[in-house]
Amino acid sequence: MTICSPGKGHLVIKFDAVSKHYPNGTTAVDDLSIELPEGGITVLVGSSGCGKTTTLRMVNRMVDPTAGTVSLGGRDVRAVDAAELRRGIGYVIQQAGLFPHRTVLDNIATVPLLLGWGRRKARARAAELLETVGLTAEAGKRYPHQLSGGQQQRVGVARALAADPPVLLMDEPFGAVDPVVRTQLQNELLRLQAELKKTIVFVTHDIDEAVRLGDRIAVFRTGGHLVQCAPPAELLARPADDFVADFLGAERGLKLLSLTPLADVPYEPVAEGGRWQLVTSPDGTPAGWRDTEGPEGDEAPLLPVRALRDTDSLLAALNESVASPAGAVARVDAAGALLGITTRERIHEHGSRSHAEAAA
Ligand code: ADP
Repeated sequence: MTICSPGKGHLVIKFDAVSKHYPNGTTAVDDLSIELPEGGITVLVGSSGCGKTTTLRMVNRMVDPTAGTVSLGGRDVRAVDAAELRRGIGYVIQQAGLFPHRTVLDNIATVPLLLGWGRRKARARAAELLETVGLTAEAGKRYPHQLSGGQQQRVGVARALAADPPVLLMDEPFGAVDPVVRTQLQNELLRLQAELKKTIVFVTHDIDEAVRLGDRIAVFRTGGHLVQCAPPAELLARPADDFVADFLGAERGLKLLSLTPLADVPYEPVAEGGRWQLVTSPDGTPAGWRDTEGPEGDEAPLLPVRALRDTDSLLAALNESVASPAGAVARVDAAGALLGITTRERIHEHGSRSHAEAAA
């Protein structure tokens, strides 16, 4: 039994020796035992065809296992009426799966209406959710095809949240949008989750998405085998075998740095002297680097500086330190005011230390 982290909440999703064999001889999931604790996001990751969707759909009984038991909060899901079960489980899929002939608002109101909320209350809830997922009231009056792919995905998330289900199943929900919109949607999901604290199972084949979103990541291999389940930092620092290490990719170390906040790395006062001087604006925010060996006076161009906050990652700091002419990064407080600088050497030193600690 792989236990991602101990949890005894009433929403623990547990797979106990679960297999799914299709009549054509395909084994989609093979003897899966795993416990997904309540709260937080568990990401199921692996290349196409390794059984992630099948695993996900066994939670809401869209697929029944051929062997073993799937339980939610200690109850075998097959003992629960499917309609009742799904009321407590939101489901989001790629390309949103919206009803094309219903307005966005009516799409979101679907489940509350089915639950007999009454039209006015269902629509009020839908309007509230439109705002929650960052869409305007005007978008609610349109039809799905009149929205961009990213907006449609937001509607899909809003629809899944409509009846406030404690569990959300998300199957490659951001797979069909471009990388910029994808990052926005991921950020939105993290913001929503910080507020709503649902138990989320999220399927993706993209390891970067898994690392960004997951509180825990379960790595699958073809044939429906679970290989490792661990929090992202642990997975990156200690892959269970070569398969997981390969899947995490050659930039595994950099991905780990992307999870390490800059907060623990000290900063120093901005030193006088030296070729590059950090110039601040009257409001105290860093304005840019001045080359003291370059042209003088107000006309002298400043090289751009991207200041970093404590919540930025070591990877962002490393990146900025490489780009910075002074080989140092500017550190600012939450309001953007300059605190000091951190040198490239110090960032390196902390990067190595955090690797050593994670691997220990
Ligand atoms: P993933 O989500 O990781 O891409 P799936 O769970 O969709 O993987 O599929 C796992 C395996 O099961 C694949 O080989 C797929 O072709 C097979 N499979 C899925 N659904 C069916 C089905 N209804 N009948 C037969 N084989 C299926």
